[in-house]
Amino acid sequence: MERDEARKRIEELGGELNYHNHRYYVLDDPAISDEQYDAMLVELERLEEQFPELRRPDSPTRRVGAEPSEQFASVEHAVPMLSLDKSFDADELIEFDRRLKRHPSIDEAEAIAYVCELKIDGLAVSLRYQDGLLVQGATRGDGRRGEDITANLRTVRSIPLRLQGEAPPVIEVRGEVYLPIPEFERINAERAAAEEPPFANPRNCAAGSVRQLDPSITASRGLDIFCYGTGRVEGASFATHSEELELLRALGCKVNPNVQPVGSIEEARDYCQAWADRRGELGYEVDGVVVKADSVALQQQAGSTSHGPRWATAFKFAAVEAETVVREIEVTVARTGQLTPVAVMEPVFVAGSTVSRAILHNEDEVARKDVRIGDHVVIRKAGDVIPEIVRSLPEKRTGDEEPFVMPSRCPICATDVERAEGESAVRCPNLNCAARRLSLLLHWGGRQAMEIDGLGDSVAAQLLDLGLVVRPEDLYTLTAGQVAELDRMAEKSAENLIAAIEASKGRGLERLIFALGILHVGRTAAARLSEHYASLRALADAAAEELEQVPDIGPKIAQSIVGYFARPENADLPERLAALGIETKRQEPAEGAGTTLAGLTFVFTGALEQMTRPEAGEMVANLGGRATSSLSNNTDYVVAGPGAGSKLAKARELGIVVLSEDEFLAMVSDAGE
Ligand code: NAD
Repeated sequence: MERDEARKRIEELGGELNYHNHRYYVLDDPAISDEQYDAMLVELERLEEQFPELRRPDSPTRRVGAEPSEQFASVEHAVPMLSLDKSFDADELIEFDRRLKRHPSIDEAEAIAYVCELKIDGLAVSLRYQDGLLVQGATRGDGRRGEDITANLRTVRSIPLRLQGEAPPVIEVRGEVYLPIPEFERINAERAAAEEPPFANPRNCAAGSVRQLDPSITASRGLDIFCYGTGRVEGASFATHSEELELLRALGCKVNPNVQPVGSIEEARDYCQAWADRRGELGYEVDGVVVKADSVALQQQAGSTSHGPRWATAFKFAAVEAETVVREIEVTVARTGQLTPVAVMEPVFVAGSTVSRAILHNEDEVARKDVRIGDHVVIRKAGDVIPEIVRSLPEKRTGDEEPFVMPSRCPICATDVERAEGESAVRCPNLNCAARRLSLLLHWGGRQAMEIDGLGDSVAAQLLDLGLVVRPEDLYTLTAGQVAELDRMAEKSAENLIAAIEASKGRGLERLIFALGILHVGRTAAARLSEHYASLRALADAAAEELEQVPDIGPKIAQSIVGYFARPENADLPERLAALGIETKRQEPAEGAGTTLAGLTFVFTGALEQMTRPEAGEMVANLGGRATSSLSNNTDYVVAGPGAGSKLAKARELGIVVLSEDEFLAMVSDAGE
């Protein structure tokens, strides 16, 4: 390549990489895959090697991560948090070992002992302990300065707030915060139910969760950590990295169980190859193996570049991708009426399972990826779980492919669809559309909403088909006899379903608001609304401007709520639901009730053994207090039973008084006297 051409390309790549760095590290919203990013970075590195004089001081090849966000206080790292140089195949791994041996003070003839560790795909954090106490937690940021996210990291249960045993006076523990795959799936399922965009993969979800301004969001995300090193340490030392990991274990830090010391680079290569095949077994994402020289003396001799240590390399696993053909693009209809294109593909085996469908989200996404019916496409399991189309392969087109056109009518009920200005979603406006009715019914009975066990796809579809149920509230007029008539429904299961429907009446205002399936009203909005409005009637009467005063409720949500209650069929919905026995009011003190707990807010978490949640709420309400499900600075008491998790951790962090169930009962009985 000519020098001028190289200069142009270097500038171009620098600009692109900086843009993607920002999206990845600052916005937690990457626009391209890691493989695409890495390919550009390698191209830039090669050009800079060829034309060293064109290398710019601010080149992405010299930098680590991105500037810390101004939303957080910044933290100076006493020892920089560097990135790692990469090896993309076995030859590059062997070359890394050769390079290291070329160092004048290292004996070339002797094999170097390494430690192999899985490279956890999350985000790096540094935890500073003073006299054994966690005093600060920070992100890597640009390697020199990170973001202070102490409050958020305190909610991660596997991060010790106090170290065990004889902790050195100062120790900075370095580790990777990550999201286990089942948690990732749970969060994305909840987001889908709340019509929020899904996270692309567990790493982005972990990074987004840790960099939250509200620690309760972090706490609700089930994050975990593996610790793999230290920064500044005062009062302890180690001769090898293995000893360093031993120390971390002894202090109660979670170290990955698959760490393996090896005697040579060849053994390290075998470890890398073995885990490349087994990565699907882990339950969390790994994107490679980190191979580190074990001897600390050798590490010091080799030193670091501005980008990463010379004594370690990240062996990157190849992405799990596969090629297949799109047979059709189907359109499904969600409860809010949103039409979603789904690619139906020739079945193909990728990352442990056979895949034949991939969601394409909306018509803009189809256009952006230029996916046509009949196209060859590269698919990948994002986060090794959700299949996604990475790109189409236009070079393989024969001319018979058909571009996708979003139908102008709902594929289920043929009503003309609508696309609101500024939105990428197209919706079927017909509230009686069969597809919408089915998904609304399933949403109503869902775990986060009214939680009706036994109301699955087949039962819900039959109830609608037979005209027994048109709207969710019709469930409450069903008899066991009617239900027993359904296909594959025995008498016992019919009774169970009726009992589950009955039990759902008392789920409370917050879950009821969510269950209604009002467009844009997810769980967070429902929680805020139920804190502000004492009843569904009060919510139905609220004007848009008033709704917008509620935290987390913006104009879009407010408009949607007003529009929902303005529909003629919803005019008397609160009264109709109440007449069916459904709780439509927030639990307030009953008339003549005590006032001993007036002004106090309680949150119950974990299992209760001597009472049900509604009973507990009633007790609080009877004494003038309030029981809510969301924890905030306004919460006065948290009552925690067995299995209490993130809420309990957050309560401790916020300094809220935590009571056991017995203590709560004692308090209530004292108060009642
Ligand atoms: P890296 O993630 O490749 O390697 C360094 C990091 O590895 C460390 O900071 C640490 O967080 C982590 N790590 C995990 N397990 C470890 C262990 N056992 N020991 C030591 N470290 C361990 O480097 P990077 O500089 O953070 O990021 C580069 C990665 O980010 C690349 O994979 C790149 O593709 C991706 N990226 C993607 C985009 C995009 O737009 N898609 C943009 C920027 C970066």
